[in-house]
Amino acid sequence: MNYEKRIHRRMKTEVLVIGGGSAGSMAAIASGKEGKKTLLVERYGFLGGTSTTILDTFYGFYIPGISNRKVVGGIPDQLLKKLNERNAMLLRPNTYGAGTGITYDPEVLKVVWEELMSEASVDVLLHSFVADVVTEGNKINGVIVVNKSGFTLIEADIIIDASGDADVTALAGFPFDGIGSHIPVQSLTTTFRIGNVNEERTKLFTKNQMWEWMRQANQSGKYHLPREEGSVHITTLPGVMATNMVRLAIPDPTDIIELSKAEIQGRRQALEYFRFMKDYLPGYEQSVFLNFSTQIGVRETRRVIGEYTLTKEDVLAARKFEDAIVLCGAPIEDHHNQAGTKWEYLPEGATYQVPYRCLIPKDSDNLLVAGRCLSATHDAHASVRSMGQCMGMGQAAGIAAALSIDQDCSPAKIRIEDLQKKLISYGAILEDV
Ligand SMILES: Cc1cc2nc3c(=O)[nH]c(=O)nc-3n(C[C@H](O)[C@H](O)[C@H](O)COP(=O)(O)OP(=O)(O)OC[C@H]3O[C@@H](n4cnc5c(N)ncnc54)[C@H](O)[C@@H]3O)c2cc1C
Repeated sequence: MNYEKRIHRRMKTEVLVIGGGSAGSMAAIASGKEGKKTLLVERYGFLGGTSTTILDTFYGFYIPGISNRKVVGGIPDQLLKKLNERNAMLLRPNTYGAGTGITYDPEVLKVVWEELMSEASVDVLLHSFVADVVTEGNKINGVIVVNKSGFTLIEADIIIDASGDADVTALAGFPFDGIGSHIPVQSLTTTFRIGNVNEERTKLFTKNQMWEWMRQANQSGKYHLPREEGSVHITTLPGVMATNMVRLAIPDPTDIIELSKAEIQGRRQALEYFRFMKDYLPGYEQSVFLNFSTQIGVRETRRVIGEYTLTKEDVLAARKFEDAIVLCGAPIEDHHNQAGTKWEYLPEGATYQVPYRCLIPKDSDNLLVAGRCLSATHDAHASVRSMGQCMGMGQAAGIAAALSIDQDCSPAKIRIEDLQKKLISYGAILEDV
């Protein structure tokens, strides 16, 4: 399409980050801290992506198991410090599951992301959606975003695609896996929060008991609960609980017709789970429904084909790489499109490293990705997608973009030891200690 006549504004920046989720926000902050003129584009009117639209618990910072080690550090610690200073986070210790979680207040987190952005001198363009890219061979010269003002062309030296769905990568014609492949992508979940819960009484039952009651409710014929499992947890607010129960499987969450139907069904399912909870669970007798997630939670769509693709074997063998940028000890947690969830753990206390090459779309000249659209197989993705690791990837991508400008080369050609040195200077954890 010829946008030339319709473009009402032109902008220029050194580093352009698309998507203000855990990965993109961290990438923009890192790039800004490295002194690069940085612009972050986000489709919603606030930052955080999945961290503020759907969830309230960071996993991946701590590895599961007895050691319970913290394996993500650096700029993400500055975010945790700000949440802590506002009494807006709590640790939920857990040896199993995904390990210890950091539960936060997502409303406070929106402001914390904004503060970090401003401290790093990052310009933020909200309510703006990527519509197209302008390419020349393997180089992306600019990105066209659409918003209430019309079409804006943003030219940039380096672009970081942190859209979760690899939108920029796909528009630029670089290859991806995930949707359309023979392995279905993970299921989707509308989360919801419940208020006025008697927390003391909720201690009267276990998760297994709740699952048994779900089975009984379904067998009674009076309820329709597609998933007879899921979880509910405390939040930073008294008497408020958050859930992860709804499950919907669609082949392609980037297909807007399928996604629209899933949004509607997701809310319907959520209300059915709430009805069950109020009727069956001690402590929920007087509870009230507070809110649905801003949108349905999408776990997996496009995964780019990068210079390296992280595999299940890499994860389970706790593999190490020369170009490591992030550590991860999270299990493979596959919310596949059937009943149940598949869990596969690394050996006790072990971690694998995420190679920098997973952030470089194959043959691209000035593009990096960060977050859940990294280059990984379906199984490896089911381990590495936690928000702790997404922030770690974002931090690395932001610094790599800055180095690429300083070293006047493509992101694929930067000196890895410089990237790793910088990451360590910020406090990133790249090796087991
Ligand atoms: C239901 C569910 C439960 C989960 N539970 C947990 C959990 O408890 N703890 C945990 O650590 N992880 C959990 N995960 C995984 C984790 O939340 C995600 O993998 C992670 O948040 C992805 O971060 P991201 O920055 O890559 O993408 P996102 O957070 O999805 O950010 C992408 C951003 O890009 C924006 N965007 C997208 N397309 C465009 C476009 N074209 N133009 C402009 N902006 C765009 C979006 O609005 C968004 O802000 C869960 C995921 C889901 C879906």
